[in-house]
Amino acid sequence: MKVAVVKELEPGEQRVALVPEGVPRLTGAGLEVLVEQGAGAGAWFGDSAYSEAGASVVSAADAYRDADIILCVTRPEATRLKSGQAAFGMLAPLTDPAYVSSLAEAGVTAVSLDGLPRTLSRAQAMDALTSQANVAGYKAALIAAAAYGRFFPLLITAAGTARPCKLLVLGTGVAGLQAIGTARRLGAQVSGYDVRPASKGEVESLGATFIELTSVVSAAGEGGYARELTGEERDAQQAELTGHIARQDVVITTAQVPGRRPPLLVTEDAVKAMAAGSVLVDMGASSLGGNVAGSVPGETIVTENGVTIIGAINLPSSVPAAASNAYSRNISALLLHMVADGALAIDLDDEIQAGVVAAHGGRVVHPAVLKLLEGDR
Ligand code: NAD
Repeated sequence: MKVAVVKELEPGEQRVALVPEGVPRLTGAGLEVLVEQGAGAGAWFGDSAYSEAGASVVSAADAYRDADIILCVTRPEATRLKSGQAAFGMLAPLTDPAYVSSLAEAGVTAVSLDGLPRTLSRAQAMDALTSQANVAGYKAALIAAAAYGRFFPLLITAAGTARPCKLLVLGTGVAGLQAIGTARRLGAQVSGYDVRPASKGEVESLGATFIELTSVVSAAGEGGYARELTGEERDAQQAELTGHIARQDVVITTAQVPGRRPPLLVTEDAVKAMAAGSVLVDMGASSLGGNVAGSVPGETIVTENGVTIIGAINLPSSVPAAASNAYSRNISALLLHMVADGALAIDLDDEIQAGVVAAHGGRVVHPAVLKLLEGDR
């Protein structure tokens, strides 16, 4: 069976789905690995490194024509796929179910790593959402430090003493915890807040302070995720958070609720209450709005009162080698889990496959995607 690694299509996307180090694992399992010319260039993995690792470097046309399975980080070029092929990537089926539907119609098996059940311990090595969120949280702390006009650590020098930066992380899931750890290593005085009470212990274990609000006691939802707040809870949360935000030099926000637009945590009033020189990094920034009022995805703006708001998008792509290394291990582990006797063995009774297989046999098979498509009719 031939597996092809193709170049990412999104402008500016630097990651690659499989790194050279991952090739022997697949060839060792009897798979033939094809790599599109230049696929790894954005992450500094050259074509020769892939050849030396045992892959064949081919043109895009050959990769799409000859492969049984296409591997990518985000999405492959749908119009080049053909019936009987399988596409593995982060296909975002819940935000764009029509894309999955088009793959199903074309007879393509769609496997999306973002559907992986995250609480199964045997699936942890395949968890790309976690590995990429980890990279994103790390980079968020670095871009905050770079945009902040003072030091993060307490520095005592002959030229004076600098007090440590006060940094708050809102939303302490995978990305938030990594942002806390990184900011702590840079010497900031860090606190964290989340609506899931379980995260208190995780924040404290990293040496940060957990902020407890009286307005929202718990909003733990299903599968370890948060639930959406009611309108009343949201207003009370925003009002209570504003007091905490005003005392911070830097705030990093990572809050997400599955299938919903990111919750607004830092209101316009909260931004206005911050001192000039403060920095906000909004990892929830999207075209639908983010965690921070006024954030623009992909842009850095400075408000009238001197607060820098960074609409951070696709941070994993800006640490491409580390992000690709981790993703490569995730996608290989999933692929090998789904291969038996040298062929793709789709089994929707398997809990892992039931989460990731979105289309197969000419049909959309994932219940959540089907539900969304039915809602559109
Ligand atoms: P996510 O990206 O969906 O959201 C980020 C954080 O935002 C979450 O911690 C969420 O609780 C928080 N949030 C949502 N609404 C909020 C609000 N209004 N105010 C404040 N915070 C808000 O989450 P994630 O990082 O993907 O992690 C979600 C959960 O999955 C966590 O419990 C994590 O520990 C768990 N998880 C488990 C495993 C595993 O067991 N293998 C792997 C990965 C993640």
